[in-house]
Amino acid sequence: MADFLNLEGHVAVVTGGNNGIGLGMARGLAQAGASVAIWGRNTERNAAAESELSQLAPVKSFACDVSDPAQVEAAMAGTIEAFGRVDSLIANAGIGGKKGPFHEMTIDEFHDVAAVNVDGVVLSFQAAIKQMIAQESGGSLVAVSSLAGIEGAATNVHYGATKGAVLAIMRGLATEYARYGIRTNAILPGWIATDMTSAAVGNDTFTEKVIKRVPIRRWGTPEDFAAAAVYLAGPGSAYTNGQQFVIDGGYSVF
Ligand code: NDP
Repeated sequence: MADFLNLEGHVAVVTGGNNGIGLGMARGLAQAGASVAIWGRNTERNAAAESELSQLAPVKSFACDVSDPAQVEAAMAGTIEAFGRVDSLIANAGIGGKKGPFHEMTIDEFHDVAAVNVDGVVLSFQAAIKQMIAQESGGSLVAVSSLAGIEGAATNVHYGATKGAVLAIMRGLATEYARYGIRTNAILPGWIATDMTSAAVGNDTFTEKVIKRVPIRRWGTPEDFAAAAVYLAGPGSAYTNGQQFVIDGGYSVF
């Protein structure tokens, strides 16, 4: 295996790594030999992911709500206790908002989405940066944003707003922490078949509309994110910083 594909000895954290895109990325990292810490709230899904991926590499899950500072601190402490260090963190945990007219959205609904999609990214990145600076060995931060972070999302404006915020956070950190050898990049998924999009996937009319616009002519899958995670977390992306990687089958070309 080429050195840039071999992540043996590398310790990666994937928030929301027990399901969907996060699980696809955690699986890819484990396949490349990385030790992986999965942070998520659902302990059953955490245990299932840990058990599956442990066949590939050392993998441990931690119960963690990324919007809660104390839980993030505890998950990072547990990760360090288990693996001794952190080389990359993929801030993937996210929720979709309740769809509806913007002027009818309550401010609490806005804050609930922001708590996970923005606070969660901020808290996870802060914990990783502190550890990476202490290690003096650099590292990689990856934010999972969305095409909605660029295009906005009608009837789901709060979701788009949080994903746009994540891109600005990513760019700020790419400049602020490069001197510590810490790189920051973002992945922007298009239409990916996961629990988050299950209603849309199950709606034939909607699926037809989406697929018509995707040149690759299918929904994306969590597996489509495995190699991107390995590239961005690992040494292959040593000179890649402050960038947005759209993975959408070409949807955004139009
Ligand atoms: P899923 O619903 O399949 O997975 C979401 C993951 O986030 C789960 O592992 C969930 O675990 C975790 N999560 C949610 N809230 C929290 C929380 N408060 N603390 C910790 N973990 C949390 O969704 P996807 O895989 O589709 O989404 C992954 C990311 O990709 C999200 O950020 C999403 O916005 C983004 N995205 C997805 C797209 C798609 O088409 N699917 C398109 C664009 C972006 P648990 O519930 O156990 O906490």
